[in-house]
Amino acid sequence: MTYNVDENGFYGEYGGAYIPEILYKTVEDLKKAYLPIIESEEFKKEYRSLLADYVGRPSPLYFARRMSQKYGCQLYLKREDLNHTGAHKINNAIGQILIAKAMGKKRIIAETGAGQHGVATATVAALMDMPCTVYMGATDVARQRPNVERMKMLGATVSPVHSGNKTLKDATNEAIRDWCCHPADTFYIIGSTVGPHPYPDMVARLQSVISEEIKWQLQEKIGRDYPDYLMACVGGGSNAAGTIYHYLDNPKVKIVLAEAGGMGMDTDKTAASLQIGTKGILHGSRIKLMQTDDGQIVEPYSISAGLDYPGTGPIHCNLYDTGRAKVLAVNDDEALAAAFELTRMEGIIPALESSHALGALPKMQFKADDVVVLTVSGRGDKDMETYLKHFSQPKE
Ligand SMILES: *Cc1c(COP(=O)(O)O)cnc(C)c1O
Repeated sequence: MTYNVDENGFYGEYGGAYIPEILYKTVEDLKKAYLPIIESEEFKKEYRSLLADYVGRPSPLYFARRMSQKYGCQLYLKREDLNHTGAHKINNAIGQILIAKAMGKKRIIAETGAGQHGVATATVAALMDMPCTVYMGATDVARQRPNVERMKMLGATVSPVHSGNKTLKDATNEAIRDWCCHPADTFYIIGSTVGPHPYPDMVARLQSVISEEIKWQLQEKIGRDYPDYLMACVGGGSNAAGTIYHYLDNPKVKIVLAEAGGMGMDTDKTAASLQIGTKGILHGSRIKLMQTDDGQIVEPYSISAGLDYPGTGPIHCNLYDTGRAKVLAVNDDEALAAAFELTRMEGIIPALESSHALGALPKMQFKADDVVVLTVSGRGDKDMETYLKHFSQPKE
């Protein structure tokens, strides 16, 4: 059994490429090009050198002594929060812009919700001197002001989207519309393991540097290259996909994914799409998503802007259905408590998204010698306002 993509772009019954006819050739060209490019010496050399000297990789694998004691295990944190721009997203953005260049594309587009992927894309567009337009829902433009300013300072055009709920899914529709108008010269950089094939596989491969490093870092630290548990948060699924990539076929490694429970899976304010979603097509891919009986997307909710996507990418839908991954919903209050705990016990302020992975720790039963690797996908600077709002009454 393999958990990787099949030749038709599916993971079990999820994935595929459900795209408008006008994009067929563009997506087909990308499908033919991405693997030869990723495997070429030229790409590898430039990608590796940028990851090292620009992003600051390898990211440390840190043994969290106090948290290990608290949770009765050997807890290692994979520090994606220390990357340039503050999260794992840059690994993927660099890879995709190099692929765009290799394919002769002249212009970059992206969509963003919280602004994190927009910032990563605007960053690499500046680095490569390519024009870049980032679509962002007007509601998100208003509530993510600092990231909007960053993108502008980096030279990107931020295009507010006023349709629908004016959030991520509307921004995505607009990006796809742009792509349909300029398929020949424009490369669409997607920020997570979502979208039509080959995006989920391409993004997972570009993020797989995370588990590639975990392997040799564990070998160095504990004399064996695999942990007992891997833990990560899932929005679209990219930091989780990178964390598990090289361990998927090793049954000794248990996978735990934390999705955003919001106010609770039994309320209508949630983003736990793996557990409560139903099968449908969104952004060109068959996934589990939050929708009404007649297929209207239900607006997701999470305290964390990076996790409130109405679905989860096809890789994780398949891992959930096949039982390869255990999926836990972590609610807002649990994520906040976990953020304060990591901050006070280890001196690391995590992103709210990453706090969901940490919030799954109290739900686990470990043995004292279990080695647990948990990915801290990003740093908490961007979330300080939310954290401070709750600081007066940290929930225990
Ligand atoms: C965007 C983001 C996520 C969620 O995206 P995935 O593709 O599921 O990884 C998680 N953590 C941080 C810090 C992010 O910026």
